[in-house]
This record gives sequence, structure tokens and C-alpha cells, in this order.
Amino acid sequence: MSLNKIDHVGIAVTDLEKSIELYKSMGFEFQGTEVVEDQKVRTAFFKIGESKIELLAATDPESPIAKFIEKNGNRGGIAHLAIHVSDVQSKLSELKQKGFQLIDEVAKDGAHGTKIAFVHPKSTGGVLLELCEKKEH
Ligand code: ZN
Repeated sequence: MSLNKIDHVGIAVTDLEKSIELYKSMGFEFQGTEVVEDQKVRTAFFKIGESKIELLAATDPESPIAKFIEKNGNRGGIAHLAIHVSDVQSKLSELKQKGFQLIDEVAKDGAHGTKIAFVHPKSTGGVLLELCEKKEH
């Protein structure tokens, strides 16, 4: 099961509107916002070459992003690295078999109709890894 490319880098932010303006002013190409109910976040995407930057703001105190920001001294920062895969579920099975600790045993709904799943940083050397599969259009 191949890992195709870096789909996006997820960055936690405390104020989405302010951060959108900040990234726009740096010259990043804004693509719009979307709420992902499953993750309790509001996201903003910026295109950069074949990849994207995903800004993430919590919509609920129980959001993983709210917890990340709390652990990070109440500041934003790089939250996850997302890798594009052609089949999330089979990559999850493969990693599980190899002894990786999965946060999601079953793929969930991500932004833009993607299927996503997270692998625990404890088993990846400290990086929260997101596997990301695009639905066929
Ligand atoms: Zn992401």
C-alpha cells in the first residue's frame, strides 16, 4: 500500500479569522473554510503546490484541537502531517498488523469529502499522522 504524497500539514490555531488573514498576507492561496463535525473543528485550506495547509480551530472544548492548544501552552502550532493514500482502510489494517497504535480503527469523514484516520504519535516517533483518501468524483 503506497503513501503517495503529503496531502496537507494541519496547523492548530486559536483564532481562525485572524489566521486566515495572516496566511493570506504571507501570500498563500486561500481555498475556503469548512466545518468538520466529526473532529469538532472549523478548517481553512490554503493551496501550496500539490499540497495544502489546513488551519484548524476548535468548535468545542472537547475537540482534539482544543486539547492540542491547551497542551501547547495555549498556543497554536503544527498539529498533524497528512499523507495521501489510495485506500485508508487497507493502510490502517497494514499498520495495525505491524503494531502501530491507531487512533481511528475505522476511517472517518474529513474535509472535502475525504476519508481520514489518525495514527498515534506514540508509535510514529512523535508525529500525529493523518491518512487521507480522496473519494472518486
Ligand atoms: Zn488534516
